[in-house]
Amino acid sequence: MSIVREYATSIIVTVISFIFFIICVQFEAFELFYEFSRDHEDWDLDEFFSFFVAASVALPILMFQWNRRLRAAYRQKEVAEQHATHISRHDALTGLYNRRYLFEKLARRIEDATSEGTRPAVILLDLDRFKPINDLRGHETGDFILQRVAERIKSVCYEGQEAVRLGGDEFAVLLDETQAVENAPSLARRILAAVNTKYEFPGWSTSMSCSVGIAVWTEGTDGAQLVKSADQAMYKAKREGRARFAFFNEELGEKLREEAELESDLVAAVDAGEFQPYFQPILCIASGSLIGFEVLARWISPTRGNVPPDVFIPLAEDIGLIGPLSWQILRNACIAATSWDDDLTIAFNLSPRQFSDRKIARKIQRILAETGLPGHRLEVEITENAVIEDIESAKQTLEELHDVGIRISLDDFGTGFSSLATLSKLPFDKLKIDKSFISRVTMQPQSAKIVEAIVALASSLDLTVTAEGIEELDELNFLSALNCQHGQGYLFEPPMPRDKVNLMLENGRKPVFQPDTSVTSGGLN
Ligand code: C2E
Ligand code: CA
Ligand code: CA
Repeated sequence: MSIVREYATSIIVTVISFIFFIICVQFEAFELFYEFSRDHEDWDLDEFFSFFVAASVALPILMFQWNRRLRAAYRQKEVAEQHATHISRHDALTGLYNRRYLFEKLARRIEDATSEGTRPAVILLDLDRFKPINDLRGHETGDFILQRVAERIKSVCYEGQEAVRLGGDEFAVLLDETQAVENAPSLARRILAAVNTKYEFPGWSTSMSCSVGIAVWTEGTDGAQLVKSADQAMYKAKREGRARFAFFNEELGEKLREEAELESDLVAAVDAGEFQPYFQPILCIASGSLIGFEVLARWISPTRGNVPPDVFIPLAEDIGLIGPLSWQILRNACIAATSWDDDLTIAFNLSPRQFSDRKIARKIQRILAETGLPGHRLEVEITENAVIEDIESAKQTLEELHDVGIRISLDDFGTGFSSLATLSKLPFDKLKIDKSFISRVTMQPQSAKIVEAIVALASSLDLTVTAEGIEELDELNFLSALNCQHGQGYLFEPPMPRDKVNLMLENGRKPVFQPDTSVTSGGLN
């Protein structure tokens, strides 16, 4: 078509000239003209004729050149347009298609899908832990990796599978084919195998992996929703351990909708101050007397009822609300504790996210000053993963807490890396043995041995040990025989609201249980 358009003028001119020639021949035009010029000698028509002959030779040559120039300009314009279209639909770094192309193509595929009975699919992939490489090794290295990843993705795409870079370390593949549903998992596997390998540099190498989400189009969904679904499936793959793929389905959609609702309720609950501290008694195992409480967050929602902390604490951490939430709880707990006996301590849980905040010690000190609770009545419980990443700054924070008399417990001991290195480098005062070991001490000799070893270790390091999750008398007796100092669990009391603690204290501090003196120390040699 474009060739016809390009030569249209020449064709029209040739056709007109040919028709003119036929007419001239038909009517003997030359003879007529000759007769006419002879009859009108004084008009000098023969000179005009010579001029026309000369012009008819020069004109086609001029027209030819003009036409050639025009065609060259037209071609240049076309190349420039093609280039502009290419740039606007491709990613400059990797040469893959870009986000704009994906959405344009998806819109067309979705339009066709209903009439053709096809179901386009989108595969979305995100590199795992790309940011640290970019930060530590520089953007040039990051760019190099992104280019190699793009090549590898492209190399495993078949016909009708178009690779796209969405931005950053996020890529996608559009499966523009009738068998998209069947072919998506095998393509996802090929991508994982191609991307999750080593990347070599002069003198060093690194491994990369990616997580992949797959979403298949369903009636009534638009391109943006389809890509969002693939993104959500990709996050599911990340949550399930990375370097794998996951499908988006209705169940996941429903779960995400519920999470989004929970999230917005949580935001409102922090504003409304719906979080309360509950207090679980901690006892001295040897005497059975109360020594303090662990502060446990409770969300008593007017619409949802009692939401367990295992649900809302991780969510609050994810959405950056753990700070406001836990300061609410700490403040209320400190206020409650100031009205109790001076020797009763409260142990407050700090989440790893909070602990990475350099100002944490100052924030806690400010709450102590506001509420009037002396530092020696507060303990802070942290898990090993809060300190493992940056031991030096953890040490500094712990020392700042120590300076005002706050004691530090290493919580859930035995469940993390439990490295002796962590223990010896940081100034802990207490160890809390995780309840998963305590619940098995009477059934599993292995767990009993671990608990025995932890108590021995703590004693050699001059640390106080608290066993949490004591539910059975046998467990208590076992711990008592090991000389484990402190205990906490449903066997004594569950976490309770402030009013109930007040009532318990008003009735006088009797030992919560009578120690079994018949049990002798047998666990430790
Ligand atoms: P954790 O720090 O290990 O707290 C002990 C958990 O064990 C509490 O669960 C407590 O109710 C439960 N527990 C106590 N005695 C027993 C027992 O005899 N048997 C059993 N099976 N469980 C017992 P809870 O209150 O549901 O808290 C769960 C986790 O949520 C806590 O584990 C802690 O990691 C987190 N958490 C709770 N409150 C806070 C908070 O204010 N801040 C932060 N960052 N985390 C909190
Ligand atoms: Ca705890
Ligand atoms: Ca614990």
